[in-house]
Amino acid sequence: MPKTIAIDLDDTLAATASKVCLYIEEKINIKFTKKDIVNWSISSVIPQVEGHEREMYAEVWKNPAEIELEDPDIPNILDNLREKFRVWIVTASSGEDKAIREWLEKKGVAYEGFFHLEHSVDKHGVPGVDIYIDDHVLVAENAARDGKTAILLRQPWNEDFIKSNGNQNIIPADNWRHVEEILLTRFVEK
Ligand SMILES: [Mg+2]
Repeated sequence: MPKTIAIDLDDTLAATASKVCLYIEEKINIKFTKKDIVNWSISSVIPQVEGHEREMYAEVWKNPAEIELEDPDIPNILDNLREKFRVWIVTASSGEDKAIREWLEKKGVAYEGFFHLEHSVDKHGVPGVDIYIDDHVLVAENAARDGKTAILLRQPWNEDFIKSNGNQNIIPADNWRHVEEILLTRFVEK
């Protein structure tokens, strides 16, 4: 039976954070970029946005046409992976379901399952997932605690964690080609 991979949306498939940076610049005139978000919580970098983080992502998802893929090769990579794995999208995005599904279709991202959850912490309760692909350290740690694997896509906010990570169930990936390589070389039964 093929293994099931649960792929996150925001900042794993969709390059949402850079749009959130532009939104902040527009609203409160603070200029910063994705590489400045060195902590999961944007408000630890920009205190003015405290309490508005989910709302900012929701605002960005009101203009899905503006949101790019995190990597332009993602549709091809997922087509390859779907020959060996079941691909599910498992997201706790504050974007609207309809906008997200339409965006995935428009970008050519194909998948077998779609789970839109309330909170990231709910992700490890989704039955049947073997491997998580996510940028969120919390998701990776919860998966690893359940004895599952997490591939942690490198982003400025998980860089410190990756440097000190000793957990063998959490595998850092530098980019989507690296994600593909890890999955095909380590998780396909020969
Ligand atoms: Mg994410």
